[in-house]
Amino acid sequence: MTDPRRRLPSVDHLLKESAVAALAAGVPRSALVRAVRHALGDARAAPEQAPADAAAWAAAVLRALESATRPTLRRAVNATGVVLHTNLGRAPLSEAALAAVREAARGYSTLEYDAERGRRGDRHVHCAGLLTELTGAPAAMMVNNAASALLLALATAAAGGDVIVSRGELIEIGGGFRIPEILEKSGARLLEVGTTNRTKLADYERALKAAGTEARGHGGTGGRPRERRPPVAILKVHRSNFRQEGFVAEASLEELVALGRKRRVTVIYDLGGGLMVDLSADGLDGEPLLPRAAKSGATAVVASGDKLLGGPQAGILLGTAAFVERCRTNPLARAIRADKLTIAALSATLALYRDTAMARREVPVLRMLTEPRSVLVARAERLAATLPPAAHAVMTATRAAVGGGAFPGLELASAGVALAPEGLSAAGLAERLRLAATPVVALVTGGRVVLDVRTIAPEEERTVADAVAAALG
Ligand SMILES: *Cc1c(COP(=O)(O)O)cnc(C)c1O
Repeated sequence: MTDPRRRLPSVDHLLKESAVAALAAGVPRSALVRAVRHALGDARAAPEQAPADAAAWAAAVLRALESATRPTLRRAVNATGVVLHTNLGRAPLSEAALAAVREAARGYSTLEYDAERGRRGDRHVHCAGLLTELTGAPAAMMVNNAASALLLALATAAAGGDVIVSRGELIEIGGGFRIPEILEKSGARLLEVGTTNRTKLADYERALKAAGTEARGHGGTGGRPRERRPPVAILKVHRSNFRQEGFVAEASLEELVALGRKRRVTVIYDLGGGLMVDLSADGLDGEPLLPRAAKSGATAVVASGDKLLGGPQAGILLGTAAFVERCRTNPLARAIRADKLTIAALSATLALYRDTAMARREVPVLRMLTEPRSVLVARAERLAATLPPAAHAVMTATRAAVGGGAFPGLELASAGVALAPEGLSAAGLAERLRLAATPVVALVTGGRVVLDVRTIAPEEERTVADAVAAALG
């Protein structure tokens, strides 16, 4: 019996093959050699699919070359209907934010330079003005993301002290972000109160009063009693990615702020989404509004820049002037500072919110969330008509979601295009769409591929049509 691998050509042999050598133009030799080795490796792993002739070998080497030079971070079309799709990069930026990024990136900038006075400036001023103006917060700063803003707020407030958190809010946000773990990393100590479904103001009050001694050590097996200092902070966390229903209770932010004042403890609110405008008239109800929380009197409010705010990945920290100043001068702030591109994008996004109608029009996340179903139906019908007949494309009603840890459980009546081509399974077609030069990420439901148009920008429709035609061709 002969081993089919024996029949594989050598690297040198393939490199001399004229069809392969023809690929070398403009390609570094090392890259070509790596691609040849890659193609040989594939053939060794699956000998029955090994290229049969020189042309097939050249095609395999070309595929390897292309996949090696293709960036791993590429544009993709989100046809899932999930507006804040974390895996697909959350919020697309507005034109204004894109222009600001380009402007800040192409040359030098006044990132930390005060041009009026001709001296060193502060990167924290850029968004702080807009944030306080738009939310009514006494002071503001921004960092890399909301997780780091929360870390900074906790580290600044607690520094080894106890932080009270409801057992109903010890949550995981996603991507391994768990409130108890962030709290531990900040150096604070978790003091749980209440139960999973019900935590009342009285639970916080009791925890604040219960200073004294406690037994240290695990499992009650000895350990020296130590003085227990009163808690230093209360953390309230918005349950942004799930909903509790039924026999539930929680203390409101306002109640906790009043309690914090009375007992002189810091109150931190992790709000998550960063919603700036009330969307309840559009059927989007139940997310806390950032400006309302900012005016609550909480010591600090933390939110994301790239969720409902519709800006770049960023962490927004609003709060009292004294607390924000302490955060700003905490050495940790240096480690989690935002870069100039993020500052440019967030500033430009925030500026749109000076005019609510403009924000709703220009911020893609707000536009997608509030697009009326009738408009989406018309767009889906138009898109279906541009697809090849072999796709058997029809307009279909869909249920889109907000995603990204916002408005959990809420479904948006939406519209899409259902594809049921003959001779190709829905999963097979979805895979081909994913493998397109610009991946098109779609859902497979009921044996059909469904492209929800809510998250497909009008200027992406052509890309989708091309990908479908290529997948079927
Ligand atoms: C999303 C979220 C975070 C984390 O925000 P990032 O900007 O992703 O770091 C923290 N807390 C809540 C409540 C969230 O919803």
